[in-house]
Amino acid sequence: MGTIGLIGGMSWESTVSYYHVINQQVKTQLGGLHSAKIILHSVDFAQIEQLQHQGKWQELADILADAARGLERAGAECVLICTNTMHKVADMVEQATKLPLIHIADATAKALIKEQIRKVGLLGTRFTMEQDFYKQRLQDKFAIEVVTPDQADRDLVHNVIYDELCLGKINPCSREAYLTIMQNLVDKGAQAIILGCTEIALLVSQNDTDIPLYNTTDIHALAAVDFALNI
Ligand code: GLU
Repeated sequence: MGTIGLIGGMSWESTVSYYHVINQQVKTQLGGLHSAKIILHSVDFAQIEQLQHQGKWQELADILADAARGLERAGAECVLICTNTMHKVADMVEQATKLPLIHIADATAKALIKEQIRKVGLLGTRFTMEQDFYKQRLQDKFAIEVVTPDQADRDLVHNVIYDELCLGKINPCSREAYLTIMQNLVDKGAQAIILGCTEIALLVSQNDTDIPLYNTTDIHALAAVDFALNI
């Protein structure tokens, strides 16, 4: 079994999910007392969030690249950035080591293509919904069309992530708001919704709606296990 390197803490609420899903899957696949080999570098999210909102992406890239180098030195055999948003600097993190970087958007796109989803709604932070690094990758590399909420709804989705979910607050009113926004995206032609922020699945699950949901946390974590068990 290979050793999985995680850059987490963005936020730690969702890194808990990664740890859980990865170990659960290794147990399912190998049985008994088997558990995953994981090295985790967990950052202080207060610093990360501040730099994000100041637009200091080069500094953020340097922090995550340093973390990736540390994981490599410690014996990790792949790297995961445990957040969709920070994939904005994924190329720079990938170049920092010789390790393969398992990209969250690529893993998600593969899951969508398997189910023949060609037009998808995307929920995430404003960075993920509004900038090109995520949407464009899905469009250019996988020919998946992406629809996003309108401005007011993007603000709501973004604020719930930073003011509630990353602080471990689960608010039923926010769940209802998210479900309405998802339905709006379906009305715009989306066949499914990407939960494109690793905390959203803490708020909304497939039990809450008939709209097909693609939980990037689970998809990304399972891609890591697939890598580690087939290395
Ligand atoms: N975990 C979130 C994501 O997947 C948001 C927190 C962050 O900005 O990294 O985008």
